Amino acid sequence: MQTSISPTLLSNPVIAEADAILRACVHCGFCNATCPTYQLQGSELDGPRGRIYLIKEMLETEQASDKTLLHLDRCLTCRSCETTCPSGVRYGRLADIGREIAEEKAPRSVSARLLRKTMLGVLPYTMRISMALQLARVFRPLLPLQLRKKIPARQNATAIPVTSHQRRMLVLEGCIQPLSAPNTNAAAARVLDRLGISLHGAQGAGCCGALNQHLSDPEGARTMMRRNIDAWWPHIESGAEAIVMTASGCGLMVKEYGAMLKDDAEYADKAARISVLTRDLSEIILGEMLSRENSGAFEHIGKGTRVAYQSSCTLQHGQKLGGTVETILQHCGYELTPVADSHLCCGAAGTYTLLQPELSQQLLENKLAALHEGKPEVIASANIGCQMHLACASKLPVRHWIELLEQNRHQSTINSNQRKETT
Ligand code: SF4
Ligand code: SF4
Repeated sequence: MQTSISPTLLSNPVIAEADAILRACVHCGFCNATCPTYQLQGSELDGPRGRIYLIKEMLETEQASDKTLLHLDRCLTCRSCETTCPSGVRYGRLADIGREIAEEKAPRSVSARLLRKTMLGVLPYTMRISMALQLARVFRPLLPLQLRKKIPARQNATAIPVTSHQRRMLVLEGCIQPLSAPNTNAAAARVLDRLGISLHGAQGAGCCGALNQHLSDPEGARTMMRRNIDAWWPHIESGAEAIVMTASGCGLMVKEYGAMLKDDAEYADKAARISVLTRDLSEIILGEMLSRENSGAFEHIGKGTRVAYQSSCTLQHGQKLGGTVETILQHCGYELTPVADSHLCCGAAGTYTLLQPELSQQLLENKLAALHEGKPEVIASANIGCQMHLACASKLPVRHWIELLEQNRHQSTINSNQRKETT
């Protein structure tokens, strides 16, 4: 694609990066075929190619309008288009750059800014979300049905083993997961314990920064990144061999710390090292489980239980790890039921469910219909955002896949967490 961005703008390395991405696009439109919002809206500007043109136009004219914001806002940043693109266009990075510029050029209304500021002030902080959740539970009967459904059911925290294996790994607790699905990291610690690995958190680490990044607050995201790096660094220096991510959305973000902090003189090297050490839980488990000494430890756990696996966008399109969880579950004796259009987003997408409720709801309904179609007994996910979003409306229990790897415990875990508060 030809571009004509002014040399002054191009002297900014971020704009130069956007220009290089734009030039890689050959406007073939293949990406539209796998874009969830293009499929729902049927308009060019709600597909990746149209959004690429909008960003190009904005950079060339140095102007943006409400229309630019509208169509960029409707993008889920699911990166399905990246998986499809034959030219390797890094759409996700381009969308991030485009959004930051559009925010400056086309300021939002006061109410829209207030909503985003409130979300930024609450969502990345566990204590603040906890207080908001407690309030929401108290006032649940007074809330509209759609909001009531979004309040996650309480999940009982299960025991985390005290271990002292020679092999040690860090785990990110994150912001919302400790409140809504505390059993995920506990189950990860127990499974890794069986594989001879100690898993522990790092005091001071928190939200990965993805929420700030989604809300076009890159400086806030960088603050979160630096804080996490400071929290993890002493553990890395003392021999922790990996940083394990049990939420694929956080994993994608942390794997990009190196790129995002590459111009930070103080943190660039550490960030690059952190990204290299970061692994999705499925990468660790698959590697350990299929190694010779551990290969039989988890076989037959599933006993043929039928599982519909929801492949999160951040794992399959962002981290390019499609198939890892599926392989693990099948190795453990689960039967995977067919799920149509598994490349399509469920509509969770960070804050999308709050900011684009109608599109998010349509995607959720389509995804649940596809997941339920094969008559599974349980739905498994690899990402807390998807897990919560699906659980809002699913008739079946929705679990993190690691919970299914605990022999003789999985059924009771599934059942004990089915208790949904009455809506
Ligand atoms: S598939 Fe790739 S090259 Fe083709 S229009 Fe989409 S982004 Fe551009
Ligand atoms: S990131 Fe997802 S929603 Fe956005 S343009 Fe690409 S495929 Fe469409």
